[in-house]
Amino acid sequence: MADKRVCKTCKEAKDLNEDNFRLRKSGRNKGRFERQCRTCENKSRSQRRRHKPLEECNSNYTFESQVKTEITKDDLTGTLTANITSVGVPVDPIEFLENQGIDTEKYTLTGGKLKCWTSPMKLRNEKGEEVPSAIKNFSVSAAIAPKKIDPIEFGLQEYQWSPPQSRHKSCDRKSIDHETVLVFPDSHFGYRSVNGQLVPTHDPDILEASLKFVDAINPHRIIFLGDTMDFPEFGRHPHGIDVKGHTSKSLEAAISFFHDLREITDCPIDVLEGNHDKRPISFIQEEIKKLAEVPGLKIELPSLSRMLGFKDKNITYHSDPTEEGWDAYSSGNNIFDHRGVLYLHGEKCGKDAVIKTMNHYMQSVCMGHIHKSVCIPKVVPVIKNGRRSYKTIWAISPGFIGSLDTVLPAPGAERDYQQGLTLINHINKSGDWHEVDTIPTPIHIVNKNIFYSGELYAT
Ligand SMILES: [Zn+2]
Ligand SMILES: [Zn+2]
Repeated sequence: MADKRVCKTCKEAKDLNEDNFRLRKSGRNKGRFERQCRTCENKSRSQRRRHKPLEECNSNYTFESQVKTEITKDDLTGTLTANITSVGVPVDPIEFLENQGIDTEKYTLTGGKLKCWTSPMKLRNEKGEEVPSAIKNFSVSAAIAPKKIDPIEFGLQEYQWSPPQSRHKSCDRKSIDHETVLVFPDSHFGYRSVNGQLVPTHDPDILEASLKFVDAINPHRIIFLGDTMDFPEFGRHPHGIDVKGHTSKSLEAAISFFHDLREITDCPIDVLEGNHDKRPISFIQEEIKKLAEVPGLKIELPSLSRMLGFKDKNITYHSDPTEEGWDAYSSGNNIFDHRGVLYLHGEKCGKDAVIKTMNHYMQSVCMGHIHKSVCIPKVVPVIKNGRRSYKTIWAISPGFIGSLDTVLPAPGAERDYQQGLTLINHINKSGDWHEVDTIPTPIHIVNKNIFYSGELYAT
């Protein structure tokens, strides 16, 4: 069956070919089909030109045209206003702006006015006698504003899905003296080559085993440490296989995973932004730089939360790390402090990065990004009520839940990654959640098997 595409304007599904959709000849989307079908595209083009005077302004005389123009620019909104007055011939403002070297494809017509009036004038006939006559005048003013860039143009879709009925309900819980947090490390949905074919899920067996594990332990909260997606299409690493057009398939795989997870539990889920999750945003920000000549250009950045439809599903997305601070991924909104443990994605590699981060904050930290399993305690002194005592803080990294036999992040990169999850138990002894004991348990995944408390969880 032929590939179909739904036109973003008329919403009709049409065969994906050049008869129905125009092929882009230049720009970033070069070689891709437009998202609007040819019929709608032609319609909007003819609408743009509808200000052109036709019959009612037809002039019986031909004169050499005299065109007076003025183009003003609002620097704040980027709106261009062109005022054109012409004698004898009407002027299409869009065509006029194009002739001025303005790429009107980047703009939308936001207003336009056409005036047409007759003024008396005298012409002489062959005998040299004066003949009372009239001349047509035209005046056009048009305002065009910079177009809004839609991430969907870059193949980034916004998903909506309804959460299913969950088997385990948070409201059924009675315990208030302990809390179990299950931490998922980097999953890097998307981009794995199996016999030369791209598959959107990295390690489906581990994901399935993890879901069985969630069902069995029924955690109070689940935290994802970032790099949920891989997004190779927007990355800077060269790839041995063509990853073009793979993004939507991996997004769908991730949504289906979160849907399955919601089928099990309705507990709060936190998802941190990782450097890979941010790739489409960085890419579009680069595109903005290219479009710098269009002031006021409005761009909605493709947050992973929108792309995975997290809204209203009790899934909180922690993103937008500031570029300042100790490092870009352990500052700002991208640190989630829960019961004294700092959850962050991190941006430095190697197991030492977790220990350094713990020493930097002098607090327990749970970090992704390094793809290695770490769980190291440190005893530190604390002064309480003027007395010196000790507490244990932890450097934790669950590992990786992507596949080990892949080229990630790039061909040739070190990839002795370790698969695993981590359970963090908080025990509230004094009735005050500020005073808790934190007990992390690393859960190693070996040969696609999860062992915990004498049980095996596997596909
Ligand atoms: Zn990362
Ligand atoms: Zn990662």
